[in-house]
Order: sequence, then C-alpha cells, then structure tokens
Amino acid sequence: SEERSLNFIEEIVEEDIREGKNGGRVHTRFPPEPNGYLHIGHAKSICLNFGLAQRYNGQTNLRFDDTNPVTEDTEYVDSIKEDISWLGFKWANELYASDYFDKIYAFAQALIRKGLAYVDDSTAEEIATQKGTPTEPGKPNQYRSRSVEENLELFEAMKNGKYPDGAKVLRAKIDLASPNMHMRDPIMYRIKHAHHHRTGDKWCIYPMYDFAHGQSDAIEEITHSVCTLEFIPHRALYDWFIQELEIFPSHQYEFARLNMTYTVMSKRKLLQLVKEGHVDGWDDPRMPTISGLRRRGYTPASIREFCERIGVAKRENIIDLSLLEFCIREDLNKTAWRRMAVLDPVKLIIDNYPEGQTEVLHGENNPEVEGGEGGRDIPFSREIYIEREDFMEVAPKKFFRLGPGLMVRLKNAYIIKGESCVKDADGNITEIHCTYLPESKSGSDTSGINVKGTIHWVSVPHAKTAEVRLYDRLFKVEDPSSEEGDFKEYLNPDSLQVINAFIEPDLATAIPGKGYQFIRKGYFTLDKNSTADKLVFNRTVTLKDGWAK
Ligand code: ATP
Ligand code: MG
Ligand code: MG
Repeated sequence: SEERSLNFIEEIVEEDIREGKNGGRVHTRFPPEPNGYLHIGHAKSICLNFGLAQRYNGQTNLRFDDTNPVTEDTEYVDSIKEDISWLGFKWANELYASDYFDKIYAFAQALIRKGLAYVDDSTAEEIATQKGTPTEPGKPNQYRSRSVEENLELFEAMKNGKYPDGAKVLRAKIDLASPNMHMRDPIMYRIKHAHHHRTGDKWCIYPMYDFAHGQSDAIEEITHSVCTLEFIPHRALYDWFIQELEIFPSHQYEFARLNMTYTVMSKRKLLQLVKEGHVDGWDDPRMPTISGLRRRGYTPASIREFCERIGVAKRENIIDLSLLEFCIREDLNKTAWRRMAVLDPVKLIIDNYPEGQTEVLHGENNPEVEGGEGGRDIPFSREIYIEREDFMEVAPKKFFRLGPGLMVRLKNAYIIKGESCVKDADGNITEIHCTYLPESKSGSDTSGINVKGTIHWVSVPHAKTAEVRLYDRLFKVEDPSSEEGDFKEYLNPDSLQVINAFIEPDLATAIPGKGYQFIRKGYFTLDKNSTADKLVFNRTVTLKDGWAK
C-alpha cells in the first residue's frame, strides 16, 4: 500500500535509532498467552510488532507467555504458530516464558537478598484490604519485616511444595503509599499445584505477569516491548524490576487495542461461544479469530491492509466491521475468479433453442487482470436456471432484467427475450419461457442490439449442487460487551443461513483457499469440510456493503 506518515511507535523507534540506543538495534516480540486462538486484535499486534522489525531491519520473537498453567494448552500453541505464518510473518525465535522459570526464580531470590521482596502469609482478601485505596495509603503487616534469611527459606519451601495453594505469596517490597496501586507491594509469585503444558509438575509456584513479562523481555534483550493501553499503570513496576535486578533495560510502549463492531474480542468470551456451542468451533466463519476469517475466505493481504489502515492509536476506539469487509472486497475484486451460481433458482426454457443441443461457451477467470488469467468452459443448453428475482411478470420501469417482452444478456452467452411464465396453484412462478437471438453470442455479437442488463445462469443438465452458507454479523448490536446483561443475549439468531444452490460445473474443481466471485452474488470460498460428494461454499462477503446508506 502507499506510503503513509509514521505512527507514534515508529517515531519513537526512529528517534532511538538516531540516538544510537541499543546500537541501533530493533528487537520486538509478540507474546500471546496460549489460552485461546488468535483474533483480529492479535493480528493488529502482530502486524505492528513484525512490521517494526521489517521496517527497521530488526527481529521479532514469538514468545508464548505461558505462566498460567491452568488455562494453557498445546492446541493453542499450534494454532497460534499456524495463524502467524499464514498472516505472512516469520519469527526469529520461538520462545516460552516457562523456559525462563529457573532464571525468574533466581531473579526473585536476588530481590529477596536485596531486601526488596518478602513472603506474605495473608489471604488475597487481607492483602487487598491492607493495600488501602487510591486515596488511603496501605498498611504494612507483620510479614513485611521478615528477615532476608527467613524469606529465602520460606520462598524455597514454597517452591518445594510445602504449602497448599493460596497459603503464601511472594511480594515485592516497594511502597504501600504509592499513588500507583500496582506499586503497593505487588505479588510476584503465587502457589499453584497445577500441571503445566511444558514444565509438567516441576513447579508449583508460578510468577505473575508483572514478574515474568519484563523479565522475559530483558532476557531476550527486547528493545521495544509494545503492549496495549491497560498496561500503562504497570509500566512503573516494569521499570522498577528491571532497575533493581540490573538486567537489560527493555522499554514498554502502549497503544490502543483494536475493538471492532458487532463482535467480541476477548478470548474468555470467544471460548464461551465455542464451549456452549453458539458457534462451530474457534474457526467458525463468523468468529473474529484469524482461523475463522481464513475459513470465511479472508486473505492474509486483506487483514494486513486492514491493520495498516486503522493505524496505531493512543486512545481506545471501535473500528467498524465494514472497514474489514471493504479490505477483503478490494483484494478479492483483484484476485477472485469469476464463476456463476444461482442461489434462488427458477427454471427458464429457451423455446427457440434446439432441444437436446449443448454448446460450450467460454468465460475468462478474471477480467481485472490483463489476459483474464485464463478461463473455463461453460456448457449452455435449452434449459437454464436463473435467479428468481431476475424475472418480474409485471416489471417496473428501469427493471433491466427479465420480464415478458424485456431483453437481457445471459453472461458469456446470448441475449434473450422474455415471453411468458407458468405458475403453480399458489401463483408461484415455476417456469419461464423466452426466446434467444442466435446472432447475439458474446464475443461475436452481430445483433446490433444493446441491452442494459446482464444476468447469470447455470445450464440445468450440467448444473452441480452445492451447499452455500451465507453469514451475517455474529451480534445484533454494535458493542455487545457494553450492553446490559450477558453479552450472549445479543447474538444474532440469523447469523447463518444455509441454502442449496446450482453452480456451474467448473466449480466442482474449485481450489481450497481460493476466492471465487459468484457473479452478482458475492465472494465465496470452499469450506474446509467441503468434499467432492458434497460441495460447501462459504460466502466471504457480499459484493457491496449492504449496510451503507
Ligand atoms: P484477551 O484479553 O482476549 O485474553 P490478551 O491480551 O490477554 O487477550 P494475549 O495472548 O495476552 O491476549 O495477547 C498477546 C498480545 O496481543 C499482547 O501483546 C496483547 O496486548 C495483544 N492484543 C491482544 N488483544 C489485542 C487487541 N484487541 N488489539 C491489539 N492487540 C491485542
Ligand atoms: Mg493475556
Ligand atoms: Mg487479557
């Protein structure tokens, strides 16, 4: 995409490079917690972190922030790697915070030795109360004055499994009167007798985010540690630990997380949708996950373009889902192969076309590309399917489709003229009759007749059938998380419509992962569960923004 002005993080990085900070080196990291699948918000962070490294000849580590054994799983690790690669990025190193548990434990001991950490036997409630309020300073308890020796001994006993969950914590000894609540002796370690997906049962104490993240950054000598705004109040603590431990001075920078309309973006909420069966797994095409978007037919380029367009903000905002749809439309318009499919069929008979005759017409794959990217054969015959809405018995003015006496072009085929229709007892049209102009064949039209409309069609004896899944917004309201009550009350009951369509025979060999424009109907892609016996297509997006006024 075209050159744009620098975002504020790039400005910081360029300033650092000019000043020769870290020898001009740029090393970022993307630190997912493997407790769910990545979503479009993570894509924003991925594009930012990997984008910085690409722009400034740096590197990006993929670091799994796996310090919470209870919610983490290798299934998530695998999906995260697949999604980042699919987005088009390469990490320099695949790392795990859990690989640093020994080092982080030693860091904790170092702080104890400096008199800067203590073991506290208080309950979580007691600690919360003793911390005070933003306007009231906290009060020290009797554990705060424990000796270095006692703290070292107790901390080791914690590690060795002597105490049950919650019996003790290790806290930093900072300032119980700090206006920043995060500095009021924050918890560094808690006891959790839980199996970890990598370290197994080796540990029963685990470091808190604040005593793992900055330490991991420092161990990896990360120069620019980019995170979201809610970590601003953690920055003082991030810096304090690094300074007191005298380790590599990584720096934290914050940007606004991506929020998007008509969806939710918290892994906890997405997990609920999966577990309670509101969607068909993490990769349901209605989900804002990377895997869901991929299954829906989004391309990596469209997601990168979206992240580029929204920019890097310093204030929270909510991005309209239609911008994401705009990006995929733009991309697929350039790359999708054009095909014909009739989603709501009615049979049309060309009375003056010889019975039993078939001819093979030709259609190019992609009119947006010079040469059309090749093409495909399209069988034509006396009976075809057209969309029900393309015929009106009594048509208003400016209805440039079919009706008695009205002429229209069949895409890649002939001009036809509507004659009559047959109806059932309820008045529904069951069959349309028309005539065609044999000299009007596309590419060699000598009829001299200009018609305004072109409609798509599929030859009845050659048609294949496919299940077509039409998706709508997952939620009925713009911001389900800010509504009263449970966010799931706002799920859109009509977010999935499944229909059977007639498709041109070439679509039976559709390529998985490729985008197809069903002419006039939108962009579609094969679903991952599509088979030769049962073709299934997902609609990625409609051709136009149906919501714009
Ligand atoms: P959730 O709140 O959904 O659990 P998280 O922030 O806990 O998400 P992590 O796995 O910890 O998820 O996130 C990995 C990285 O992605 C972090 O650096 C985080 O700041 C970033 N990230 C997560 N959600 C968003 C978002 N909506 N927009 C931008 N960045 C995000
Ligand atoms: Mg997290
Ligand atoms: Mg979180």
